[in-house]
Amino acid sequence: MEKLFDSHAHYYDSRFEREMGDTDALLAALFADRVGYIVNIGTDIENSKICIAQAAKYPNMYCTVGIHPSDGQQYADADEALAELETLIGTPDTRRAQKIVALGEIGLDYHYDDTDKARQAYMLEEQLKMAERHDLPVVIHDREAHGDCFDAICRHPHVRGVFHSYSGSAEMAKDLVRRGFYVSFSGVATFKNAPKVREAIAAVPNDRILIETDAPYLAPVPHRGKMNHSGLMLYTAEAVAAVKGIDTDTAIALTAENAKRLFGI
Ligand SMILES: [Zn+2]
Repeated sequence: MEKLFDSHAHYYDSRFEREMGDTDALLAALFADRVGYIVNIGTDIENSKICIAQAAKYPNMYCTVGIHPSDGQQYADADEALAELETLIGTPDTRRAQKIVALGEIGLDYHYDDTDKARQAYMLEEQLKMAERHDLPVVIHDREAHGDCFDAICRHPHVRGVFHSYSGSAEMAKDLVRRGFYVSFSGVATFKNAPKVREAIAAVPNDRILIETDAPYLAPVPHRGKMNHSGLMLYTAEAVAAVKGIDTDTAIALTAENAKRLFGI
């Protein structure tokens, strides 16, 4: 059986310790079973550092560093936080040593009314510039902000990356692919009430599609609502395979190959 490449998870999340007791035991079991690779995704300075530390413990775990649009609000001084992030990004040599494969997750999240949209836009813009300066792919979080996220990446035509847990239209997915982006699908692909996500899966070419857990969130059916982990991504692979009319092993192999190409693994 082909091994799964989970392109987006948050293994520092306290929910793992709370529900599993021992995150290291869980990860060891997953890697011993059907999980081939995991990219551990940072959302602020503090957990980006934990991502680096966790990635050092497993040969096939990689990591990203970045400031998520919702997490950016915690910093009194945005520029100070961005400067600290750039220190983490370091040089090509330090990145290779620390297994940092992308800048993210960054983006826009308009789900909550009390959010500071100007702050989000500023931090996204600065991090896109940073990605350009360091020639790093980006991991984009786009929640209810499709138009503004698309415009932001269009302002940086040299930046490449992935839209994670994609929830936009099939039309926008095609535009992203034309701009050199990859599109990643989470457990939402298995939800009955998500036909739009399956339309997007159908629209993305086989060489640009990734799969992810976003663990501990977004567990696929039949585990919807429970704690998610990389082993459950098999259900998402099955959903992608069904839409594409290919077998599950082929879907697992091609999404893993795509993720390795994007992240330079
Ligand atoms: Zn995430």
